[in-house]
Amino acid sequence: MGLRLPDTVKLAADIRTGDRRALSAAVTLLESSRRDHQDAAAELCDELVRSGIREAVRVAISGAPGVGKSTMIDALGAGLAGKEHSIAVLAVDPSSVRSGGSILGDKTRMGRLASHPRCYVRPSPTSNTLGGVTAKTREVVFLFEQAGFDYVMIETTGVGQSETEVSEYSDVFILMVAPAGGDELQGVKRGIIEVADFLVVNKADGALLDSALATASEYGSAIRLYTHRESDPEGYPKVLSASAQDETGLDEICNCICHLAEWRKENGYWSVNRHSQNLRWLHAQLREVVVQSVGKSVRAQQVIRKMEQEIETGGSVFGSGVRQHLVAIELDVASGLESPLPERG
Ligand code: GDP
Repeated sequence: MGLRLPDTVKLAADIRTGDRRALSAAVTLLESSRRDHQDAAAELCDELVRSGIREAVRVAISGAPGVGKSTMIDALGAGLAGKEHSIAVLAVDPSSVRSGGSILGDKTRMGRLASHPRCYVRPSPTSNTLGGVTAKTREVVFLFEQAGFDYVMIETTGVGQSETEVSEYSDVFILMVAPAGGDELQGVKRGIIEVADFLVVNKADGALLDSALATASEYGSAIRLYTHRESDPEGYPKVLSASAQDETGLDEICNCICHLAEWRKENGYWSVNRHSQNLRWLHAQLREVVVQSVGKSVRAQQVIRKMEQEIETGGSVFGSGVRQHLVAIELDVASGLESPLPERG
């Protein structure tokens, strides 16, 4: 990659003034796997933290391909921008979505937002990950926040784990569903409903209107059976119907997002949620660091190979040999922590 190493102090200052080119360059730097780029990205984040952290309302919007996420984000974003808010979107690259749905790969998605001066649309860092949630999503969202946007919208496609994962980065989580044909609740998994703040039945228009309203009412009854979450005001999680295409029901969605965000801020749940997200992130990083250091340690690799051989030749995983080897690796990793920490620059 021909990316030159930037002056991170200047880049941070430019990002904070809302300079879009600086922001794009910073995201590219973050996405790079080159070690020197990673170091520069870390320096940049450090510089941004030093300048004082800014927070946006992070809204995750998830749903199956074709449900209308990009149409909805475009319409909601345009509505918010019309009220003087600024919006950044981390969008799923349609080329990454291979299964089903009607994909507008060749048309400009989120056309209004892409050209609006108060909006910024960035395709999801790596187009080949499922659902567009990547290891860098959290950091990219952080950069958007430091650029001063009021709202950061994160689009993900409903593919297994990505919805629950994205709830790890968001303050408000919207799950979009299509009107159901029959009386069955469409295969929306219980776990996903449990993390959703809003279930929006889209395409409540034309011939689909009645079935959208019926679907919303069914979901409404189903959701009422769940235990009330302490971090929710009365009446949440909410089930709403809307048409992203005809732009009906959007004001209510916007008002509900604002209401929920305000209520959580006033009642302390906003920061509790962010703190626990940060802690989970830290622990995920720790696991990553440990796995990597074990991977890099020649000694640990030898011990692991030995254990594998024992198991391949019929040894029991519960034998004391395996246990002893695991303890040896543990001690090896722990002994590294005994050495002094490197000086901070
Ligand atoms: P995504 O894959 O979830 O981002 O879905 P898109 O926003 O690309 O929309 C998929 C298709 O559904 C497109 O043909 C849209 O025009 C259509 N669509 C999106 N929202 C609505 C809606 O509210 N009503 C109707 N009837 N069609 C919609």
